[in-house]
Amino acid sequence: MLKIKQFAFNPFGVSTFVVFDTETLDAIIIDPGMVSDRERDFLDSFIADNKLKVRQIVNTHMHLDHCFGDNYVRNKYGVKVSANELDGPLGQNIARQAATFGIVSDIDDSVEIDVKLKEGDYIPVGNYKFEVLHVPGHSPGSIVLYCPEASVAIVGDVLFRGAIGRTDLEGGNHAQLIQGIKTKLATLPGNTMILPGHGPATTIAEELSTNPYLR
Ligand SMILES: [Zn+2]
Repeated sequence: MLKIKQFAFNPFGVSTFVVFDTETLDAIIIDPGMVSDRERDFLDSFIADNKLKVRQIVNTHMHLDHCFGDNYVRNKYGVKVSANELDGPLGQNIARQAATFGIVSDIDDSVEIDVKLKEGDYIPVGNYKFEVLHVPGHSPGSIVLYCPEASVAIVGDVLFRGAIGRTDLEGGNHAQLIQGIKTKLATLPGNTMILPGHGPATTIAEELSTNPYLR
């Protein structure tokens, strides 16, 4: 069975997900956002308690709040960071970016992308696999991870319950984001569970009927 554990980490309340197969115990960690020992302990305890085998880190995009914990997870579990290379520049100088938000952390200064993900790639999680959908506009390299078998999509900051990702940051593009959501997300089955990078879960059907950006 595919299970997804959600944490809310750092002052931005980023959703960090541990996605795992209860049969094989293979796990991936999506958007590790931990900034403190306490948050790192939460993640590590969950992994240890469930005897999970961490296989890789996947970033939905490389905004600082989504990759504060990348280097920690990479070093602790000996795994690679996977993301779309168009977001590579965003992962640079994280500590300096954080300081502009008043966040002091012991994180390393930059996060490098080891494995470059693109549209149509698959990410295995035990007996399951997630398809990579490239949906730029919030950031140039934003990706959505979609598992048809489990009817779930992890969407980063592309789509939220009742809203969409902001497009006023570097590399943002509102028209491109709307276009991507309409062609790649709105077309998924209505019962698809949507897990955003911040805030509550929703479904495609709920967003189609209530989200003003999808009309
Ligand atoms: Zn973002």
